[in-house]
Amino acid sequence: MTQPIVNIHQLHKSYGEREVLTGIDVTINAGEVVCLIGPSGSGKSTLLRCVNQLEHATSGTVTVLGQTIAADDHEPDIDIDDLRSRVGMVFQQFNLFAHMTVLENCTIAQRRVLGRGKKEAERIAHLNLERVGLGDRGSSYPRQLSGGQQQRVAIARALSMDPELMLFDEPTSALDPELVGDVLTVMRELAEQGMTMLVVTHEMAFARDVADRVVFMDQGVIVEEGPAEQVINSPSQERTQQFLKRVL
Ligand code: ADP
Ligand code: MG
Repeated sequence: MTQPIVNIHQLHKSYGEREVLTGIDVTINAGEVVCLIGPSGSGKSTLLRCVNQLEHATSGTVTVLGQTIAADDHEPDIDIDDLRSRVGMVFQQFNLFAHMTVLENCTIAQRRVLGRGKKEAERIAHLNLERVGLGDRGSSYPRQLSGGQQQRVAIARALSMDPELMLFDEPTSALDPELVGDVLTVMRELAEQGMTMLVVTHEMAFARDVADRVVFMDQGVIVEEGPAEQVINSPSQERTQQFLKRVL
């Protein structure tokens, strides 16, 4: 049996006295697309941040790409930089370097983290810019692009690292409505190409069409999860029904 890409067991996370994740269990298998939905403040971003080790569990274990970090590992015996280089992350704010061209934005981590040469990094960046429909914008600066184009650059930048898992945290929430579709199309293609993805989103149509599984969180717990169609069209839990009524 192949190992899951992500395996989270009884994850608890507190900030000071306040527990914001309360016993989360999640498994994501290779090639699966999981959408994480739920109200603001329910702990979705914190969960994503625990997956790529931007946050450390208060208790429980997080296994990502075969590397396990338990809450009581104060000096975990894993290479966090290596792990992060294998997990792509796309945020609501695109976080591109304003003073660098699109191509430079997509090559800098390849060169610094993976040690690729300039030519090779540029070749790979170009392939990924083409993949997101921006093959002709390598010499542009971020400010010359729309928000949707900038977010697609951020996706190309992440893909240029050859990630084995992609995390998306509300990637379309900061975009004008007319720019959302192009970003979702890129994500849908990525899913079809077999990328393993964990996506926090309020785009229910995307979740229903693209996700293999939908996980609904509220107040730090997973209230309900299942096939996308089932959770979104006929949720079994009252809290899920209430949430979907508000967002659909
Ligand atoms: P979501 O992404 O679902 O909106 P978050 O994971 O961002 O939720 O936040 C969950 C809860 O944790 C919120 O109440 C938030 O205020 C709190 N929180 C998030 N990050 C921090 C932090 N660094 N320090 C203290 N509290 C935080
Ligand atoms: Mg969030």
